[in-house]
Amino acid sequence: MQIPFLSFSSQHHPIREEVLAAIARVYDSQWYVLGQSVTDFEAAYAAFNQVENCIGVANGLDALHLSLIALNIGPGDEVIVPSNTYIATWLAVSFVGATPVPVEPNAATYNLDPALIEAAITPRTKAIMPVHLYGQACEMTAIMDIARRHNLVVVEDNAQAQGATADGGVTGSFGNANGTSFYPGKNLGALGDGGAITTNDAEVAQRLRSLRNYGSQKKYYNEVIGYNSRLDELQAAVLSVKLPYLPDWTAQRQQVAARYTELLAGVEGLQLPIVAAGSTHVYHLYVVRTARRDALQQHLTAQGIGTLIHYPVPPHLQQAYAHLQMTAGQYPIAEELAATSLSLPMWPGMTEEHVLVVAEAVRSFFN
Ligand SMILES: *Cc1c(COP(=O)(O)O)cnc(C)c1O
Repeated sequence: MQIPFLSFSSQHHPIREEVLAAIARVYDSQWYVLGQSVTDFEAAYAAFNQVENCIGVANGLDALHLSLIALNIGPGDEVIVPSNTYIATWLAVSFVGATPVPVEPNAATYNLDPALIEAAITPRTKAIMPVHLYGQACEMTAIMDIARRHNLVVVEDNAQAQGATADGGVTGSFGNANGTSFYPGKNLGALGDGGAITTNDAEVAQRLRSLRNYGSQKKYYNEVIGYNSRLDELQAAVLSVKLPYLPDWTAQRQQVAARYTELLAGVEGLQLPIVAAGSTHVYHLYVVRTARRDALQQHLTAQGIGTLIHYPVPPHLQQAYAHLQMTAGQYPIAEELAATSLSLPMWPGMTEEHVLVVAEAVRSFFN
């Protein structure tokens, strides 16, 4: 039995006609950029995310980048980022001319460790960017408390955790402006690139609406040096069809994760994901860890089971960040995670049989 890392079949097949009808409506409307579909999706996503404002943009990286601009982060500023995130979080900081300052994660949850943040704060620190990695909400109460005490802004990277909660609040509703991604493989995925910013700050929202559209709010009148980063009408229409299904898809991911955790419990040498008290996990990824990661991946590949590594090289050791002159050993938790993590197949609609086959294949490797 071949089991891919990710399949869209069970999500996309049942809504095929609904999605194609939405695409046809945009096609027939003859309005393709910043029209009714984007406005409608922004309202629906703001409600889902329990915030006042949602601004659709071209992708998740732009959502983070534009958020930092709107919050006046720039050259000379330092921004606290996780040492173990996807590189997009760091890139957004670099784009505004600020410096990413890595902080290590909690080695059990893989999320930014609030206890380590204050030691990294300097007079230049302006912002904290928590990343709800793999779909688990960060400890936002503690992080917002630190931000308040040090007068810092917070930009959540919510690309992987749409619908997760921290102490009852939804991820993407805590920070001053928060970015998410609708890259196809994300929990809420478009049929191409897309992203959004969620914020309760009306002034920041207005700045972002201008920034994403050439720095203009009135056609051909440009207030600031803006960008072309708009969520397009077709993607917004597709996302509006998919959004109401997201809670059910999340529940399915959580069921798959619970089965994996049951079936893989007690395997010596294998560490399973855990959920922190107060947080929920929407399992964008189900990541296990083992010192024999590469051999386990080969074993699963040989049995037709797809896996991926999120992520093989931490940002501080990427060639792109060589100029920061960070060295191997400097962020040992991030390096250890990069060396030992493996993401098992995970998608809504994975069957019991799929999960049993994957779990059995993992068990057989360790036996
Ligand atoms: C996917 C992702 C992004 C970037 O989103 P794009 O839409 O691909 O630009 C940013 N941060 C994290 C943690 C991601 O997983």
